[in-house]
Amino acid sequence: MSAEPDFPALRANRYRDLWCGQVLDDRVDTEARVAGWVHRRRDHGGLVFIDLRDRTGLVQLVFDPDDAGQAFELGHRLRSEDVLSVAGRIVRRSPETVNPELPTGEFELRVSEADLLADAETPPFEIEGFSGEVNEDMRLRHRYLDLRRERVRHAIEVRHRVAKALRDFLTDEGFYEIETPMLSRSTPEGARDFLVPSRREPGSFYALPQSPQLFKQLLMIGGFERYFQIVRCFRDEDQRADRQPDFTQLDVEMSFVGVEDVLDLNERLLAAVFERVGGPRLELPLARIGYDEALSRYGTDRPDLRFGLELTELTDLLAATEFKVFRGVIESGGVVKGLNAGARDVPRSVLDGFIGRAQELGAKGLVWAFREGDGWRSPTAKFLADDELRALNERLGAGEGDLLLVVADRPEVANAVLAQLRVELAERFELIDLAAEAFCWVVDWPMFAWNADEERWDPLHHPFTAPAGEFDPARAGEARALAYDVVWNGQEMGGGSIRISDPELQERVFEAIGIGPEQARERFGFLLDALKYGAPPHGGIAYGLDRIVQRLLHADSIREVIAFPKSASGADPLTGAPAPVDDAQLRELGLAARGARRA
Ligand code: ASP
Repeated sequence: MSAEPDFPALRANRYRDLWCGQVLDDRVDTEARVAGWVHRRRDHGGLVFIDLRDRTGLVQLVFDPDDAGQAFELGHRLRSEDVLSVAGRIVRRSPETVNPELPTGEFELRVSEADLLADAETPPFEIEGFSGEVNEDMRLRHRYLDLRRERVRHAIEVRHRVAKALRDFLTDEGFYEIETPMLSRSTPEGARDFLVPSRREPGSFYALPQSPQLFKQLLMIGGFERYFQIVRCFRDEDQRADRQPDFTQLDVEMSFVGVEDVLDLNERLLAAVFERVGGPRLELPLARIGYDEALSRYGTDRPDLRFGLELTELTDLLAATEFKVFRGVIESGGVVKGLNAGARDVPRSVLDGFIGRAQELGAKGLVWAFREGDGWRSPTAKFLADDELRALNERLGAGEGDLLLVVADRPEVANAVLAQLRVELAERFELIDLAAEAFCWVVDWPMFAWNADEERWDPLHHPFTAPAGEFDPARAGEARALAYDVVWNGQEMGGGSIRISDPELQERVFEAIGIGPEQARERFGFLLDALKYGAPPHGGIAYGLDRIVQRLLHADSIREVIAFPKSASGADPLTGAPAPVDDAQLRELGLAARGARRA
């Protein structure tokens, strides 16, 4: 991605009158003052060369005893990361000393005056020439140093540009940016809340918002029509490698809209923002795929459409099989699904690896086979009848020698395992066109998923999502939601829905997920009340901003695009959070810490 082309406006002061990156052709033979950090220092005895760094780039300073006078002595003493303001004359370098790597590489500033503004201790890791080997804990502990690296600076710049492009686009579309409270009540987005104890009401707690969901709906009831916010959300989830306990969402809500209106706005938003920041060019309208189809063909509601390897339903072909393993699964309501990985020459050890991986992912096993004539070369071939093998080959579109992988399990397990194997196989066999960008909407979601542990229906999005058509709580499993997710290369970037705007319907949906009238009133009484005072039809969406920026930059982790991220375990090595507090503070809150570290 391109860098910001223009230099920030600069009003001359005692520290500088020019950015380092501005030491270019048009300044030759002029006097200038620049300021920044010592990036690199080369002492050639008679001359000292310093690369000085500010936000805009690097410039070479030359300390020559003839020009620098007293400042020459300072040049000798300078160390990496010292902070400096220098004045001098900008000159063209002699051809043999030009540095083609640097935008300012044809020029240098011959120092006549220098001011050491701050000394730097030797940094715990190299900033210049950083090779990526420094452990992350160390980098985060000294994040202010890590932030000085060009790669990190660029990520934060791009993040700013994305945020600005979002704000500009939405402002032009008539949206207001409105803040909503951080200290509030729980909003169910499916994670655990972070709680903040109330000092004034011991035993009572605020919850940090998992999202501004209820407030954005209240803003629609409040008549704002179009709202957005770039907002911090808090979800206390078990740490997964690339999650942050606090993360940033772009949150959007609109009134008097249906699904088509929201999708249209969002497609234009994504296209415009990507165009402004140099992201992928979007072909509109984006592809749409129904939830059921996504699950059937890709095993997941976040399909990566950059490659094929689609899953194939095989259950019906095996309805009468003698093979006990498949039959047992089918008789207990399970499915047999497979994929054709194409003609691959893989040794037995790799196939065993696939089996191990499938088991790790939760499957009982994995059948592998190579098509050979009308049948299979596979340890499983002998258990299947000839006509079954023929039918399987045909359904899987298997050519001679194609590698076939089959899982028999509960539908959710078979899908999840094959979905993951599909991606891993695509990576292994290099089937992913890395230059391609595949976006799609996943639409037509079920309202609920059965939670077997708790024996109840859980919303697939959140309980404020409107059902499509009539809603019958007795047939909750069949209900469809006016919900949509946008998926980019197999990752969910955002999701939302049309909301319930009828209080009576909202109560019925609560009931379907086991929130009875009393509990509904207790937790969401304010929403139910608000819905009674004329709620417009409304809907919206939220995007993970960190994730979008990560994708745009092809960064390995969202931590790379957050100025002060937590580590993968959710801790902050910089400030030491989370940290114990003293007993006095706890007492004030009416709390006691059990089995905790003491402050
Ligand atoms: N509140 C939802 C979320 O944070 C998004 C939405 O429905 O707008 O995931």
